[in-house]
Amino acid sequence: MKTCVISLPDEAATLKLGAQLARVCSSAAVIYLYGDLGAGKTTFSRGFLQSLGHQGNVKSPTYTLVEPYEIGTRTLYHFDLYRLADPEELEFMGIRDYFSGEALCLIEWPQQGAGFLPEPDLSLTLRYAETGREAEITAVSARGAALLDQMQQGDPA
Ligand code: ADP
Ligand code: MG
Repeated sequence: MKTCVISLPDEAATLKLGAQLARVCSSAAVIYLYGDLGAGKTTFSRGFLQSLGHQGNVKSPTYTLVEPYEIGTRTLYHFDLYRLADPEELEFMGIRDYFSGEALCLIEWPQQGAGFLPEPDLSLTLRYAETGREAEITAVSARGAALLDQMQQGDPA
């Protein structure tokens, strides 16, 4: 499995990582976002969505569980499963439909949905570091490995 660790000294670095990954995710992909409260999962998602052209706020959909975004011709779903009491609830909200098309899915607290979510392409863990945060990115699928390669080859600016 391909893994890399990236140091994120400040919020801008977390936003930039989101943008760098967004740039290479041109079609459907599932990205799991692990990390404690405040670790930066939503900040990463904001960097991701805004770099694609989303202009408004990005807040964790803590109570609604999922927030859909239409950006240009693309559909993206941002999940926050923190308050999901029982992963079976995902069946009732029609979870399969979210993953059947060409949508890109960012999922905070994926462990809360265990057994009812598709395998991810990429799994990101955000951790508190001495200064700021660090991100560990693991490619879980072949497609995820290709995305990670492309991201690492991308221009560092
Ligand atoms: P989560 O969704 O994981 O609960 P949020 O992204 O909502 O976390 O909140 C993270 C908080 O930490 C925000 O206040 C954000 O400004 C800050 N933050 C994000 N990334 C970093 C970083 N690399 N270094 C320091 N602070 C950060
Ligand atoms: Mg969040």
